[in-house]
Amino acid sequence: MKNAGIISVGTEIMRGKIDDTNSTFIARWLKDCGIKLKFRLSVEDEINDIVSAIKYIEECDLIILTGGLGPTKDDLTREALSKFLNKKLVFQENEWEKLKYFFNKYIKIPIADSNKQQVELIEGGEFLRNDNGTAPGMFCNVNNKIFILLPGPPKENQPMIKNYLFPKLKESGFITGDIYTRVFRLYNIGESTVADFFKDFNEEIEIGYYFTQTGWVEIHLSKFITTSDDLDKIQPIIKKAENILTDNKVFFTEDKDLSQLVLELLIKNNQTISFAESITGGNISGEFVKNPGSSKALLGSIVSYSNESKQKLLCVSEESLLKFGAVSEEVVKEMVIGLKKTIGSDICVSISGIAGPDGGTEQKPVGLVYFGFMFGDKLIVKKEIISGVRSRIIVRCINYVYVEILKWLNSK
Ligand code: ATP
Repeated sequence: MKNAGIISVGTEIMRGKIDDTNSTFIARWLKDCGIKLKFRLSVEDEINDIVSAIKYIEECDLIILTGGLGPTKDDLTREALSKFLNKKLVFQENEWEKLKYFFNKYIKIPIADSNKQQVELIEGGEFLRNDNGTAPGMFCNVNNKIFILLPGPPKENQPMIKNYLFPKLKESGFITGDIYTRVFRLYNIGESTVADFFKDFNEEIEIGYYFTQTGWVEIHLSKFITTSDDLDKIQPIIKKAENILTDNKVFFTEDKDLSQLVLELLIKNNQTISFAESITGGNISGEFVKNPGSSKALLGSIVSYSNESKQKLLCVSEESLLKFGAVSEEVVKEMVIGLKKTIGSDICVSISGIAGPDGGTEQKPVGLVYFGFMFGDKLIVKKEIISGVRSRIIVRCINYVYVEILKWLNSK
């Protein structure tokens, strides 16, 4: 088994100003790649300290350094590695042209001469492209020992690891397999509840739970595999995870947006859809049209807030609005029937609710939402009380609508 060491470079780390999350991320990634992590070190932005750290772990097959690749005087990682390897740093004219173009186009400030050090390459090394910043990474294979330099910011180094370092390590034969990952998206459920379902799931696979800002929980099952046999062995484990979710009546999907899954099924079944949105202000439709080809299924939408517009555009009766209020079972029912009359799609959806923070009462609190669905001629009205702040309530309404439609389409 190959082994590795990580050195995180930065005075900010040594003084406790920032947490060394790079090492944690890389440690997990190495594990996923089947590489044993032997050392995790941190050093200041001091050239001699960086060299000492490399010397300390020089027995490792793979040595990864993060941070200190910027344009300033205290960015010394490149220089330290060149000193350790006793190889020159060579200025790369073509990379400099690319960097100048990047500054001109995206940063819109004149490039400084100090940036030149970012395009100096250690003799025999290769750059690793940085799609999210100015400092390229570096890959040096010296007698089958690999040295990697990565920029400090996680948003720069994580995509670099995935998109450029991993393929490079595979290409050079250092990694002889692949990371298989299966993602489940779970809706209307908390991360801890999910973790609880899996407390007795002790399989030979990495499991991670992630709560996304967009309102769902993701389960990632991943394993480093080297043969098709390995892949076959994983399948029963994936099935077991799926069964846990099904047994606990959890709604889950593959790693795709709900609206995309809905669109795919609508197109497959040759069906159309429309929305009458109150609380979500057009965001359900907005989500739908993010998907290319959405006009094949979406006939139209009505965003209706005032009572007058509900009457005019959706034929809601004044009597119901006065008697039950705009946020009521009766009104969403009339909204969806009105939508069916006006637009006539196969599936019609209406929604009305109180997103807050104002406007709630004891009988109708913030978070109260009514949903109306017409699947063909079948009318269904649902009521939910959704907790959270305004933005979260709106996101959960959108997810709720798509989950209900998906459940219906899947049951056909
Ligand atoms: P830049 O080109 O942005 O200067 P750099 O490669 O020189 O990148 P540093 O200057 O060392 O990197 O760090 C830049 C920022 O990256 C830090 O302020 C911090 O936000 C983040 N960072 C650096 N090292 C780490 C680390 N080990 N873990 C998490 N974040 C880090």
